[in-house]
Amino acid sequence: MSEKKTEKKTKSKTVKTEEKDAVKETKKTTVKKVTRKAKAEETVAEVMVAADVKVAEKAKPAKKAAAKTTKAKTAAAKKTEAAEEVKAAAEEIIQDLGPRRSVAFIGSECYPFVKTGGLADVMYALPKELVKQNCDVKVILPRYKCIPWVYQEKMVYRGEFYMDLCADGRQFYVGIMEYVWDGVVYDFIDNEEFFSSGNPYTNMVDDIPKFCYFGKAALSALLYLNWIPDVIHCHDWQAALVPVYLHTMFENTGLANSKTIMTIHNLRFQGIYDIGTVRYWSGLPDYVFNKDALKQGYNDANMLKGGLAYANMITTVSNTYAGEIQSEFYGEGLDAHLRYHSGKLRGIVNGIDCEIWNPETDERIFTNYNVEDVIEKKKANKRALQEELGLEVDDGKFVIGLISRLTNQKGLDLLNIIVPDLIDGNTQLVVLGTGDSYYEDSFRYYEGAYKGEVCSNIMYDEDRAHRIYAASDVLLVPSLFEPCGLTQLIAMRYGTVPIVRETGGLKDTVEPYNMFEDSGNGFTFDGYDAWLLLDAINRAKTLFFEYRDSFDKMVIRDMGKDVSWENSAAQYRNLYLQLKPE
Ligand code: ADP
Repeated sequence: MSEKKTEKKTKSKTVKTEEKDAVKETKKTTVKKVTRKAKAEETVAEVMVAADVKVAEKAKPAKKAAAKTTKAKTAAAKKTEAAEEVKAAAEEIIQDLGPRRSVAFIGSECYPFVKTGGLADVMYALPKELVKQNCDVKVILPRYKCIPWVYQEKMVYRGEFYMDLCADGRQFYVGIMEYVWDGVVYDFIDNEEFFSSGNPYTNMVDDIPKFCYFGKAALSALLYLNWIPDVIHCHDWQAALVPVYLHTMFENTGLANSKTIMTIHNLRFQGIYDIGTVRYWSGLPDYVFNKDALKQGYNDANMLKGGLAYANMITTVSNTYAGEIQSEFYGEGLDAHLRYHSGKLRGIVNGIDCEIWNPETDERIFTNYNVEDVIEKKKANKRALQEELGLEVDDGKFVIGLISRLTNQKGLDLLNIIVPDLIDGNTQLVVLGTGDSYYEDSFRYYEGAYKGEVCSNIMYDEDRAHRIYAASDVLLVPSLFEPCGLTQLIAMRYGTVPIVRETGGLKDTVEPYNMFEDSGNGFTFDGYDAWLLLDAINRAKTLFFEYRDSFDKMVIRDMGKDVSWENSAAQYRNLYLQLKPE
C-alpha cells in the first residue's frame, strides 16, 4: 500500500516536472513559431544580434580577467538582461496577435492516434495551428486500446480518480494519460471498460454509454488538472453532452465561466437513442430531456441536439454547409432546430496540414515534386502506382482517383452507374476505401470486369492514399452532401484536379474551370445526377487530352492554392475572442 503511494508520489513529481517542461516547450514553440511572421523574424533577429553583441562584448573582458569575479558577474547580469530583452521582444510580438486564449478540444478521434475520417485530421491540424496563433490548446481524447503502441508508450500518467456517472450514481474510474507534441497537450481519458474495443465506434448500444462517460470524464479531468479553459470546443455528437453537463451538473464548478463551441463535422451522425438509456447513463436531470434540448420525437434523446441547444456558439466546417443544414434536404431532421439557433451558427472552412500533405517532402510517395517540376514528376508517380497496382503502365492514361469512405454520402451511386462509360481504353480508375459492403462489392466487380483499367483497393491505407493523391490526374468527390471534404483540398495540394459536386465545402473550395478566362481549380456539377458527373469527367478528359497546356496550368494553379489552416484557424481564434472578451 505504502509502496503504491510512494510510487504515485514519484509519478506525480515526474508529472509536475514534465508538466513544467511541457509548458516551457509550449512557450518555446509559440515564440519560435511566431517568429515565422516576417515582422517578428526581423525584430527578434535584431534583438538577438544585439543581445549576442552585448554578451560578446561583456564576455571579452570577463574572459581576459577570469579571476575577477565581479566582472564575470556583471557579464552574467548583462547576459540575463539581453535574454530578458529577447523575451520582451517576443512577448511584444505575441501581443500583436491579440490576447492569449486557452482552449480545450474535446472529440472522439485525432490523427495519428486514431482516425476514421476527416474529424481526426481537423483535431490534429487545427490545434497545431492555433498554438502558432497564441492559444494554449489541450486536446482531450479517449485512450482507445487501438492507439498504436509508439504513442501509448510516450504517454505520461497524470492522475486518476473515480467519477459518478449514471442516474444511480455508479462510480467509474477515470485515468489521465498525457502526451505533449508540437506545443499541443493531448490528454487521454483512460478506462478499459469503455475504450478497449478495437474500433472507436462499435454500435449504439455500446457507443451511447461510452460517450456519455467520455463527455463527463473530459470535464472532470479539466477540474482535476485545475486547467480552466476560456473556451471548450466540442466536436460532433460524441462530445455533444459537454455543453449540457456544463450548464447543469457543472454549473457550480470552476468551469462555469468557460464558453462552449459545438462544431458539426457531419450532421448525419447525432447520437440518438431512447431517452431512458441516455438519461440513465448520462445521469442528466429530467428537465434537459425536453423537446427544445435533448428530446426528439416521442421517446428518443438526441445528444447532438442537446449540445447545439446548450452551446454558446455553433460552427460547421463550411459556409455553404452552414446554410444547407437549415434546409429539410440537408438538415437530417435538425433543420428546424438549427434555424432556431441560426443566430449563433457560423461556417468556417477546414484546411489541411501542409507539412503532412506536402509533395515536396512526402516520404510515402514514389517521387517528390514541387510546383516547378510537377508535370514531369507526376508522370513518374503515375507509372510507379500503375506498376504497384497492376494497371497498364502508361503515363499517357487519364488516371481518376477516388479516396473515400464507401457510404451513400459520397456519391458512389452516381459513380457506380457510369463506370462502364468511363472506361474507354485511355482511362484508369483507382479506388481506395472501405465501408458499406454494397459499394465494396460493386467496386470489386468493376476491378474484375475491367482488369488493368480499374483497381479497387478495399482497405484503409494511409500510405497508399498519399501515393494515389500524387499519381492521379483527377480526384472524384461527387458527394450527395459534404460538410467540408478534405480530399479535394489534399488533391489540389498534390496538383491533382478535383471533380466535385457543388455542395457544402466542395462548393466553397473548388472554383469551377472557366475556359474563357483559363481560371478555376477543378470541374464541378450541381444536380445529383450520374450523367452530370459523367459530363464533368468528360470535360476534364477533353482538357487533358486536347488542351493539355490549359490542363497543366490548372495543375499548377491548384498547387499554389492556399489550403492551409492559417486563415481558418484565425477565424476560430476570433470566435474565441468574441466569446471570451477581455
Ligand atoms: P469524411 O470525414 O467524411 O470521411 P473527409 O474528406 O473530410 O471525409 O476526410 C477523409 C480523410 O480520410 C482524408 O484524409 C482521406 O485521405 C482519408 N481517407 C478516406 N478513406 C481512406 C482510406 N481508405 N485510406 C486512407 N485514407 C483514407
